[in-house]
This record gives sequence, structure tokens and C-alpha cells, in this order.
Amino acid sequence: MKHQNEGARAHGYTPGRPPQFVMPARHDPYRADNKPQGEQVCPDCGLVNRRGRWMRAQATPQAQSLACPACRRIADKLPAGILTIEGPYAFEKREDVLATARNVAEKVESEHALERIMSIETFDGRLVISTTDVHLVQAIGRALHGAFGGSLHYGFQEGDYQLRVNWSA
Ligand SMILES: [Zn+2]
Repeated sequence: MKHQNEGARAHGYTPGRPPQFVMPARHDPYRADNKPQGEQVCPDCGLVNRRGRWMRAQATPQAQSLACPACRRIADKLPAGILTIEGPYAFEKREDVLATARNVAEKVESEHALERIMSIETFDGRLVISTTDVHLVQAIGRALHGAFGGSLHYGFQEGDYQLRVNWSA
């Protein structure tokens, strides 16, 4: 019994307190390199960029066309966050799990327009949710862990600026 508890702790699982992942002090390359003058409007999603900040707004007629970081990631098929969901309980509850993930994404996107789910796919019985942002993928992972228990793991790929989150239950 003692060993099982130690094992659970070693895997970072504390009931009711999902583990946090602290991002290294690095900026998303899709966001960092683009703060042009004037106003831009994304031709794909319609967000407007003013002084480097993308927001929901009415573009002025002078606005130039420029794809936003989220739509560029979607076009490049290069997610910033990848959440893998696996385990028999997660599979049994997959409808609820997906509903929870979508709720979190909806709430986050309403506040942060660049943070979106890119795709939800199934591979070998595992669900894989990819996101345009490293914070959204963490928020979904924490919400699933909080709602359904299980265990949560993080792995950050420095070079690719990509956060992989694994939740299993
Ligand atoms: Zn866009």
C-alpha cells in the first residue's frame, strides 16, 4: 500500500489538485515575430490586429490582410499543444470527456481569441486534441483531471515550442 501511494505521488497525482506545468520563459514563435505597423485583419477568422494584439473587432477599410497566429498554425498543421487521452475509464466516459474539453475551449477562446482547438482525432483508441496554444491544452488537461481524476503528465519540446499533455484514466 505504502509503495502504491509513493508511486502515485511520483507520477504527480494529487487528488483535487491537478499538477501545474510552468512554461519556460520562451515565446511562441508564431506570435513573437509579427508586430507590424497599422491594422491587419485575418482573412480566415476575421480577427483584427492592433499594435500586436489580435482581437475581435470591426476592421477599418485601411486594414491589411494578414493571417493571425492561430490560423497560421492551423494552415501549417503545427499545433502548439497536443493532449492525448487514454485509458479504459476515459474511453468509457469519452462523450463527457469531449464535452468537458469543448466547454473549456469555448470559455478560453471567448477570452483569448487565439487559443483554439485545432482538431480532435482518434488514434488506436486514444483521443488526441490539438490546440493553437500551450495554455489552452493545459487548461483542458487540468479540467479533465479535476472532473474525472486519473493522472496528468506534461512534456515540453523546446525547439518546436510544443507542449504535450497526457491524461489517462
Ligand atoms: Zn485568423
